[in-house]
Amino acid sequence: MPAYEADNQRWSEVITHCDIAAWEIDPGSLTMKFSSYGQEIFKLRNTDSISLSAFLEKVQSPYIEVLSNHFGRLTKESKPFFDTIYLNDLTCIRIKGREIHEGSETRFIGTVEIIYSNDQKKPLASKLGISEGHYKLFFDFNPMPIFIWEYDTLKIVDCNNQALIKYGYSKEEFLNLNIKDIRPSEEALLVNSFIIEELKDKGGHHRVCRHVTKSGEIFIAKVLGYYVNIDGNNCSMELITDFTDQFEGEQQLLESVNELSDYRFALDESCLVMILNHKQKVEYLNLKFQEVSGYQYQEIVGDLPNAVYEENEALKDCLDAVTEGKIWRGELKGLKSNGGVFWVDTVITPFKNSKGKTYQYIWVGYDITEKKQAEESLFKERFLLRTIIDNLPIHIYVKDINGKHIVNNKFQYENFLSATSEEVTLGKTVFDYFPEEVANRMAEIDRQIIEGGQSSMNLEEYYYDANGKITWLLTNKVALRDASGKVVGLVGMTKDVTDRKHEEETLKNLNQELIKKARELEQSNEELEQFAYIASHDLQEPLRMITGFLSLLEKNYSDVLDERGAKYMYFVVDGATRMKAIIMDLLTYSRVGRMEEKIKETDLAAVVSDVLNLQQTLISQKGAEITVGPLPTLRIPVSPIIQVFQNLINNSLKYQADGVNPKISVSAKEKDAFWEFYVKDNGIGIPESSKDKVFILFSRLHSKSKYSGTGIGLAMCKKIIENLGGSIGFQSKDGAGSTFYFTVPKVLS
Ligand code: ADP
Repeated sequence: MPAYEADNQRWSEVITHCDIAAWEIDPGSLTMKFSSYGQEIFKLRNTDSISLSAFLEKVQSPYIEVLSNHFGRLTKESKPFFDTIYLNDLTCIRIKGREIHEGSETRFIGTVEIIYSNDQKKPLASKLGISEGHYKLFFDFNPMPIFIWEYDTLKIVDCNNQALIKYGYSKEEFLNLNIKDIRPSEEALLVNSFIIEELKDKGGHHRVCRHVTKSGEIFIAKVLGYYVNIDGNNCSMELITDFTDQFEGEQQLLESVNELSDYRFALDESCLVMILNHKQKVEYLNLKFQEVSGYQYQEIVGDLPNAVYEENEALKDCLDAVTEGKIWRGELKGLKSNGGVFWVDTVITPFKNSKGKTYQYIWVGYDITEKKQAEESLFKERFLLRTIIDNLPIHIYVKDINGKHIVNNKFQYENFLSATSEEVTLGKTVFDYFPEEVANRMAEIDRQIIEGGQSSMNLEEYYYDANGKITWLLTNKVALRDASGKVVGLVGMTKDVTDRKHEEETLKNLNQELIKKARELEQSNEELEQFAYIASHDLQEPLRMITGFLSLLEKNYSDVLDERGAKYMYFVVDGATRMKAIIMDLLTYSRVGRMEEKIKETDLAAVVSDVLNLQQTLISQKGAEITVGPLPTLRIPVSPIIQVFQNLINNSLKYQADGVNPKISVSAKEKDAFWEFYVKDNGIGIPESSKDKVFILFSRLHSKSKYSGTGIGLAMCKKIIENLGGSIGFQSKDGAGSTFYFTVPKVLS
């Protein structure tokens, strides 16, 4: 071993035995290297070096900055330092540092000595051989406030300068206090009960409590108390650190954390939260999101947002915006796991790291599904309503209380206001569209509705246009009220009834014309009937004379007439007979309706039975088979109804083919307010072509040589039935029988 190395080792052993630790710091890596005693002091295990920051962590907080400054100044400004500090384990050390030069190399080195070790309950002074005076210096000039109090009396028996500065007392005053006096009054009681107990048990205590200065200022004191025995008395030496700022900082941090968790709770309760990573893939879904969407977190995680949101313009817009790093707000349509939809009013915030790169996107939104659905159905309803209103063929409009149009339907603005769109008509009044006089009338009605709140129904208005053409309007107007019932305008519905008005006018004229014609017809009918009656009545007398003398002529002179004369006589007699029949029928016909006959209860079965009795001879001659169904009893005039049955039954017997036995049935059926009667036969029927003729007076379908008759019977039946308020008709097929039917009101008016 070279001599200088042996020398070094010797000196190294010396400083180790003197309990002096050595250190060196590398200014580049800021790594500290310690001698073996240094490793022991700073409790380094299996290493002799440690970073400066790790070293500083071993130092009590108030000294970190001090020491850090020392090292900074040493390495940068070559300033040596010398200081006394406390380590976290309460060991008090003296540390020195300086620069040395070895050739061109500069090194930063220093020493550390322990002044007071936490491992021992007594000052190291004696062990180290440090004098009482040294200890006193350390106590008095310690940068921490320190005081000593007695267990038994609680009295403060000693203190250093820092304590006097901190608590604001003179030394004399401070040594008159006991430890309760430096606590706020409300906490003084606590002192007796447990601090002392604790001290006795553990021989020391560490606590954070509130201390009060002479001026009443309260600060948070971090107290490190150690048992010391002074002159045989049990005492506690207390080192005080003002912890107020740090405590409040921690308190604030705690509050912030609590606040944040409150926010998070509130957010989770009310909002849908989704977090995407930098690749815009889902990383997190909160419970609310899962609840609303129906998706489980694990079903969606790792997917793109279109796994839960409809791919539409809004989603594209939002992804574009957030990719560019912008905050986006809008409504997104979500797709539920069960196939339904949900709507979220969403704010998306991209979060960037210190390099400006987006590392996550937070999507926070409100569930607005109900609002959206309500909006949609409102929109549908409004759309439906508007479509209906626009397509109704009437003018519909809404005016505000100043008479300004706020709604005009299509029919109104196109056909009435001659506008191409509703917009151009809004805000205008009737004065913009109608002559002043008409507008005044309309505005007056509007005013009454708005002021009185009453409706105005079926209001007929008219006006003349620029060409003098009249237009008629039929209008309903009702007051429009708000939710509180206040009138805020009116709703009007107007129909152009000009055409109807014209039609009504024409109809009225036609009606009058018709009434006039009917009167004329009635008069001429009356005259005709009068004539027929007079003629038939007056013709009877000369005809009676003709037939009377003809019978005499036939009876007394038939012998003198040759064959031709006899033939002529036959024609004359036949003609007279037919003329008589015609005159009689005509007379009967003309009497219908003229002869007022009383209504009485009439059994129609008896009526038909009488008619058949009268026709008995013809019935037997023709071998006719007649059935009569149940017939009602009615209150009617008797003679006319006898005539009807007589004519119909007689025709059924008469209009038969040769050699056929007539089969006739008479029946009746109730039909609403009427009775309907049927006379059905198996006769020759009536050809379709002659259907309209049979009820016309004197109209006959068959030759008089084959079927005698006057052509008056059915005309008379029609007149009688219609006079009673009923109707008559028939159904027939040529050669296949006929059914004549007529109705009679159950109650005659
Ligand atoms: P008439 O005195 O000729 O019978 P009506 O007025 O009773 O006069 O009848 C008019 C015509 O209607 C008759 O000439 C006949 O041609 C036809 N007619 C009436 N009833 C029948 C019937 N039951 N069957 C066929 N033809 C009938």
